[in-house]
Amino acid sequence: MISPATRAKYTATIGIECHVQLKTKTKLFAAVGNDARQAPPNTLVSHICFGLPGALPVLNREAIHLASRAGFALNSKPQKFSKFDRKHYFYPDLPMGYQITQYDEPIILGGSVKIEVDGQSKTVGINRAHLEADAGKSTHRDGTDYSLVDLNRAGTPLLEIVSEPDMCGSAEAKAYARELYLLMRYADVSDANLYYGNMRFDVNVSVSQTKEMGTRSETKNLNSFRSVEKAVDYEINRQIERLEKGQRIVQETRGWDDARAKTLPQRSKENADDYRYMPDPDLPPIVLDDQYINKIKAEMPDLPDDYRHKFQFMDIDNKVIEDIIVAPDTTKLVARILAKTDAKHARRIAFWMLQPASDETTEEPTTQSVNDDQLIKLSRLVAANKLSSTAAKEVLAEMLKTSGDPEKIATNKNLLQVSDEAAIAKIVLQVIKENAQAAKDVKNGETRAIGFLVGQVMKLSKGQANPSLAQTLIKRQLTLKNQ
Ligand code: MN
Repeated sequence: MISPATRAKYTATIGIECHVQLKTKTKLFAAVGNDARQAPPNTLVSHICFGLPGALPVLNREAIHLASRAGFALNSKPQKFSKFDRKHYFYPDLPMGYQITQYDEPIILGGSVKIEVDGQSKTVGINRAHLEADAGKSTHRDGTDYSLVDLNRAGTPLLEIVSEPDMCGSAEAKAYARELYLLMRYADVSDANLYYGNMRFDVNVSVSQTKEMGTRSETKNLNSFRSVEKAVDYEINRQIERLEKGQRIVQETRGWDDARAKTLPQRSKENADDYRYMPDPDLPPIVLDDQYINKIKAEMPDLPDDYRHKFQFMDIDNKVIEDIIVAPDTTKLVARILAKTDAKHARRIAFWMLQPASDETTEEPTTQSVNDDQLIKLSRLVAANKLSSTAAKEVLAEMLKTSGDPEKIATNKNLLQVSDEAAIAKIVLQVIKENAQAAKDVKNGETRAIGFLVGQVMKLSKGQANPSLAQTLIKRQLTLKNQ
């Protein structure tokens, strides 16, 4: 490990390329299903995926639509003219011998993503984003002398988003990866399921002691925010260690070994020349007109920042807001409630819906069965002291199961609080009578004894008395008698 003093001598520069799987029904150039999660190997394939001679690609219109939305989400817009190119390399999972991608005229040019680290915001520039077809998958089984190729994934539409080298540490890299994930989900461009590899990050890292950037390494195929963070830290350390020993950094592609938490060399980096890029003669360029572009702009849904802005007025800690934002369904629900009623209810409902969030969340609780108005009704019961917050959670759990009416559920479960002053006062009198010693202690200033008496009131009322009202009445009763 390098010392903090050594680390401080260097600046790190990080750029990230991210492959986002677009949520089209079919592949980028073939009318074959795109969801390979459950499909047996080589069942989602056609002559196009196999690259059979004479097979002609046909562009999937929906992929253009989703890429255009991504453009707006990236604070950019789709280009009116873009085209496809062939990128040649030879690998068993690429039967055509080239990947169809966009080289010099990508569908998105420029853009930016706002991130926040330790309360500091920063803008990461987007260089470009281009459409391309994914390759298949090779499996190398231990103890065999052959490889298996599955072409289900071959031809899946990807949007490769290339950032500017604007990040200078692992925390920024992680924040960028997370924000990109949120943007793609909210823009409804991708399922963005990290577990299924719907988003894969390649991190380019270099370190330098001068203004000139150092030689970079590229660590490929990271599929979690945590591995992005760890791989960046590992590479910064590895490169500084080498430079401190007087060794050179080799420009190369590396892989990430999650179990050993280290990067490993894979191959020395190819140059663009090696790929012999050429325009794809089988595909006409993509030409978009203003009408098309404006229509997509108009239909853009609210993005994470729009919700952050709306939630500012809820008096909730920023960290908690981020926990809400990570679950789009919950976010939309809270925003609807906020639009319908006051922030107090929205805030309470947000906390109810909040799951213990991890930064790798891929699943979220179903909020479909709960009706907004019933949630507001439940919140009103709490606000009116008719239901304790503990009891409200019990009612909510039942509502999520049965979509029943909150008041009815609370009544059936005997959870409604008695806030009828006369009824509670009667119980208070009884409790004071039966607990003379505790009552005396309270009179003598032993405040802890009040809690005991409130407990007795709760017990006698079978938990239905409003505890704060009970406490007020006990105090009043004992003070009055004191006079
Ligand atoms: Mn790519």
